[in-house]
Amino acid sequence: MYDYLVVGSGLFGCVFAHEAKKHGKKCLVVEKRHHTGGNVYCETMDGIHVHMYGAHIFHTSDSSVWEYMNSITKFNNYVNSPVANYHGKIYNLPFNMNTFAQMWGIVTPQQAAEKIASQRSVIKGEPRNLEEQAISLVGTDVYKTLIKGYTEKQWGCDCDQLPASIIRRLPVRYTYNNNYFNDCYQGIPIGGYQPIIDTLLDGIEVRLHTDFLQERSALKDLAEKIVYTGSVDAYFDYKLGELAYRSLRFETERLETENFQGIAVMNYTDRETPYTRIIEHKHFEFGTQPVTYITREYPAAWHRGDEAYYPVGDAESQKLYREYAAMAAAEERVIFGGRLGEYKYYDMDKVIRSALDFSAAELTS
Ligand code: FAD
Ligand code: UDP
Repeated sequence: MYDYLVVGSGLFGCVFAHEAKKHGKKCLVVEKRHHTGGNVYCETMDGIHVHMYGAHIFHTSDSSVWEYMNSITKFNNYVNSPVANYHGKIYNLPFNMNTFAQMWGIVTPQQAAEKIASQRSVIKGEPRNLEEQAISLVGTDVYKTLIKGYTEKQWGCDCDQLPASIIRRLPVRYTYNNNYFNDCYQGIPIGGYQPIIDTLLDGIEVRLHTDFLQERSALKDLAEKIVYTGSVDAYFDYKLGELAYRSLRFETERLETENFQGIAVMNYTDRETPYTRIIEHKHFEFGTQPVTYITREYPAAWHRGDEAYYPVGDAESQKLYREYAAMAAAEERVIFGGRLGEYKYYDMDKVIRSALDFSAAELTS
């Protein structure tokens, strides 16, 4: 008999299992994929750590999460500074003085502020959706060039149908600073993400190719409690309907060239290019290999059975989620955690924070 059956070997499941083991608890981790790590999974190809589920840059302002991760691995000094490619013209991201200078030929913060103020006047009152929020932050030119096309591809709907919170993830700065994040700490784990996962799961039994929902009756009584990190609506067999998700398709290619695009992340912000970004993995770790690997990221509609990469989190889904959350709270032996279990657009640090808080409450009670 196990103390905990952990469903899913992503960061939430791994951190919980690791903490539980430290407290002398016995865990079984089940994972439906052929590998551990969830979406941070990397494969090493020609010495390059290829992020198999999209670019993963670790960033946080939570010093205890940063210390926790640094006790497991070392980080390099990579700072994410992607560029946007709009019909072949390059702009710096996130939206900052470099972007405004490239867009308008202006030089000073005051000139940028005046330009944006004149364009944002079309928005009256509090922004009610992503389009209004974007225009009120950066004006119509930046919205049309760098946001509208990318966002409509990424989310598969018009910007006025999306929550304003999605665009508030990105900094807007009146300084010449291309750092994509505002956090105090940032980097890529040296050696990739897999050694972190291996350390967290050291000494813990893992069963791959095991879908809890398909083998529920055989698995559910193997442990006192279940920590479930899959989709909450799937757990309840979509009884109240489906939550809204977005999926992705990744196309990875090996190229016989040393340097394909000169940067780790290039966003394609026009509507016509079918992918949203191209990742060149070696640049996360300043690689000097003679070959390179690139991944094109294509947004995709989500249908049952597809990987649910992004919770959409519009008002309707939030309402439905609250109903599922009430059902989840009533499941006495089951705890729901992680990006899908909590239906939250969590970055890695937030998932680790959530798993550590949950572990502390569960294991010391
Ligand atoms: P997951 O990683 O999704 O792990 C859940 C695991 O559970 C999966 O392995 C899944 O196969 C398994 N599972 C699900 N259902 C079942 C079942 N029924 N039976 C058995 N196993 C099951 N965060 C950042 O901080 N920085 C970034 O740059 C960044 N980039 C991202 C880019 C993309 C394209 C995506 C999609 C996410 C990105 N994130 C980033 C977010 C990051 O991936 C998540 O915060 C984190 O990986 C979530 O961990 P998790 O354990 O909650 O979920
Ligand atoms: N976004 C955009 N243009 C860009 C990059 C991002 O319009 O060049 C918008 C888009 O709506 C995206 C959101 O900002 O979904 C958040 O971007 P982020 O890079 O945080 O998304 P993630 O890495 O989670 O996919």
